[in-house]
Amino acid sequence: DADTRLDTRTLQQLDSAHFLHPFTDHGALGAKGARVIVRGDGIHVWDSDGHKIIDGMSGLWCVNVGYGRTSITQAVARQMDVLPFYNSFFNTTNVPAVKLAEKLAGLAPPGFEHVFFTSSGSEANDTALRMVWRYWQLMDQPERRIVISRRNAYHGSTVAGASLGGMAAMHAQGALPIPGIDHIEQPNFAEHGRGLSEAEFGLLAADWLERKVLELGPDKVAAFIGEPVQGAGGVIIPPQTYWPQIQRICDKYGILLISDEVICGFGRLGTWFGCERMGMRPDLIPFAKGVTSGYVPLGGVLVGERVARALVERGGDFNHGFTYSGHPVACAAALENLRIIEDEKLVERVARETGPHLKAAFARLANHPLVGHAEAIGMAAGLNLVRRKGATVHDCEPFARDLAVGMVCRQHMFDNGVIMRAVGDRMIVAPPLVMTGAQIDEMVERIRLCLDLTL
Ligand code: PLP
Repeated sequence: DADTRLDTRTLQQLDSAHFLHPFTDHGALGAKGARVIVRGDGIHVWDSDGHKIIDGMSGLWCVNVGYGRTSITQAVARQMDVLPFYNSFFNTTNVPAVKLAEKLAGLAPPGFEHVFFTSSGSEANDTALRMVWRYWQLMDQPERRIVISRRNAYHGSTVAGASLGGMAAMHAQGALPIPGIDHIEQPNFAEHGRGLSEAEFGLLAADWLERKVLELGPDKVAAFIGEPVQGAGGVIIPPQTYWPQIQRICDKYGILLISDEVICGFGRLGTWFGCERMGMRPDLIPFAKGVTSGYVPLGGVLVGERVARALVERGGDFNHGFTYSGHPVACAAALENLRIIEDEKLVERVARETGPHLKAAFARLANHPLVGHAEAIGMAAGLNLVRRKGATVHDCEPFARDLAVGMVCRQHMFDNGVIMRAVGDRMIVAPPLVMTGAQIDEMVERIRLCLDLTL
């Protein structure tokens, strides 16, 4: 078509002249130019030079059902013909939004009967924060304002999302976090667990929350937010003891628990929602990405009974919302996407087949001389690049920071037809949930080849 007839160099020049990309160093990109992705099918994407690439990152943790699903395209086209847009403000609604709200209430853990729609995960977390503050007002405890999060968390790029997140580089570029948001250390066993079993470390890391609550004063703390498994932070899988202990601490002090499921929701961990896999009962579940497999932007917050009762029965107007809350086209895409996930039993497949397959394949990578440790959960996996292996994960020698070995490795991956992301020296994947066992093996073989090239 007209777009792909433009040659790669022209596209790159136009791109660098006009398009400011998220999280990109444009000075460094300028000469090289961005890689232009033109097409997708199944687990593959193609660039403008015709290279076929295994998309190990599902776009950006979102294309759960894979590319090229024409039934989603058709559902979107039908809805655009019937009603491309109507708002859901001021006592109006639309058919796909109603159907999707009911569908999500059915898929969510028990006690989640309500959903608030947004267009992104960042807006979902902003909404969760607004709901938390409103809830405590309605409970006559307005002094409960502080939300505790974790270092290295990613909760989005709006001012509230970046504040809730624990990314130092984001905080450094503005007066962030905004007041009322505090952070504790993340439950990263490799980083902090020396001398402890994983189970002991999980309890210790949860205890950091209790200590922070006591330091701030329990009557000041409104909520705790966390991703069941930190995604953008590097697929940091907490010990099994961590989340149940966090739950006990939240219960003890009456603190609301927010499970940010923007990545972990919709099957990524082999359950519909990550909280089910990790053994917690959140009050709010922000979601996005996998709800439409990224075909159309959509996010939202599933609202548990405790908060919903206050908001619905006593809250009056909730003065919050977006033009595109409950967008009919996005909701139609989500309904078809969820139908595919259910019909193809993708969540069960991740739990029983592909998740264990990915885990075993990553475990085999751990014998590579560059790999300190490697682990996976569901369809998400990560490995650490190290200068010298050690007897335990705590005895490996890291690379000097300025070597940027992760970026070198990532470039080899790109050149050899697999997309893997580098988070410092940690290499991560989160492939489409439709990836088969044979495709996992092929991806992991390519990863091994690229590790050899990085040596
Ligand atoms: N929360 C988590 C856990 C995420 O991983 C992301 C995006 O990667 C977000 C929130 C923000 O979502 P969005 O980029 O749709 O605003």
